[in-house]
Amino acid sequence: MRTLLSAAFCLIGLSLSGQSLERVKRDVAVLTDSAMHGRGYVHEGQVRAAEFLAERFAEIGIKPLNGSYFQTFTFDVNVYEAPVELRVGKKDLRAGEDFITDPSSGISEGTYKVQRFDSTHFSSDAPLGLRRGRVPLVFTEGIRSPEQVSALHDFEKEAAANVPVIRVVPDKLTWSVGQRKHREAIAEVRAAVFPATAKPVREKVKKISLSIKPEMRTVSVANLIGKIPGRRSDSCFVFTAHYDHLGRMGDALFPGANDNASGTAAMLDLAAYFAENPPPFDMYFIAFAAEEAGLLGSRYFVQNPRFDLSKIAFLINLDLAGSAAKGITVVNGRAHKDRMAQMAAINAESNYVPKIKLRGNAPNSDHYFFAEAGVPAVFIYTEGHITAYHDVHDTGDAADWTGYAGYFNLLRTFIETF
Ligand SMILES: [Zn+2]
Repeated sequence: MRTLLSAAFCLIGLSLSGQSLERVKRDVAVLTDSAMHGRGYVHEGQVRAAEFLAERFAEIGIKPLNGSYFQTFTFDVNVYEAPVELRVGKKDLRAGEDFITDPSSGISEGTYKVQRFDSTHFSSDAPLGLRRGRVPLVFTEGIRSPEQVSALHDFEKEAAANVPVIRVVPDKLTWSVGQRKHREAIAEVRAAVFPATAKPVREKVKKISLSIKPEMRTVSVANLIGKIPGRRSDSCFVFTAHYDHLGRMGDALFPGANDNASGTAAMLDLAAYFAENPPPFDMYFIAFAAEEAGLLGSRYFVQNPRFDLSKIAFLINLDLAGSAAKGITVVNGRAHKDRMAQMAAINAESNYVPKIKLRGNAPNSDHYFFAEAGVPAVFIYTEGHITAYHDVHDTGDAADWTGYAGYFNLLRTFIETF
């Protein structure tokens, strides 16, 4: 009886709030599917993702501007279409799990003798003495001071002009998108590949074999922009979310569930709600491309806006929406004290999220160039227990969606009480 009652209560709650976690999860499942190739720049992953989003925009009833959702532009990027291989000693390492490439890596293929380096080598100004033809295998634990870090950086730059460089890092692997800067390959290996108790294993590594062959390509990508008419058109709200991720490194897939299939799906969910419940002002939705490549999509849009930026009453960028277990953080929130007080009051009344933290501005997502252009813009990310970030573990399973209904309702109510 109790179960039945609470189930009925849940259903009522759901229809009143308008959010659809099921729909959000389905969109995330599609966006993170291997057929989307990590929404990056191999096998046309970026094109497939854009096509899917255009279908979803149309389904929801988001209206194109001048007959099209798309704003296309091109940029150059280092892509890894060929399988990426690395063998250290006698061990074949798993791409994505055990090692990644440096985003600015060049091309290397072959078997090389290694020369080991560790933090002690980077503590003085003495030359490191890399022997001719040897590949540096650098254990970076203990390289902490800015001087050591910059010495390592200079060393790698010089070495990678002639031979590949292998960097062993104590932390998790965090991949990124970039442009080639070195002639030879640079790879990063997790220290866990070398068992903690087996220092001798490190000493035993005499050879490495690798095949790392990125290609610099000019790729075409598209921002998707659309509108839901509101009750007034003299001002507008904007929701943005980047839909690109890192793509693939050879066969390794970077699904980008929390970053940022989650925010993209949440934006679609808000659009579906406002398509049924007209907002106070016109509302624009922008799914940005190439955020991971350096906020390129939002920068391009701000330089080539499709509607009047001076009409924007408020812009909210959604990135990392997968778990609000500990609440949300609002980047650039400190610049908008009144609006944030409004949000805090809504939250105090309904307890939508456990905590709202405010930060200053930072160029860490697609709100940034809008804010620089004088648009009231913030970036909201959720704070939960997800540890996957820019790695092969950022799958749909990593997002737990704790507090999604509260997150959705906080944003919805914030807009509705403007
Ligand atoms: Zn992101």
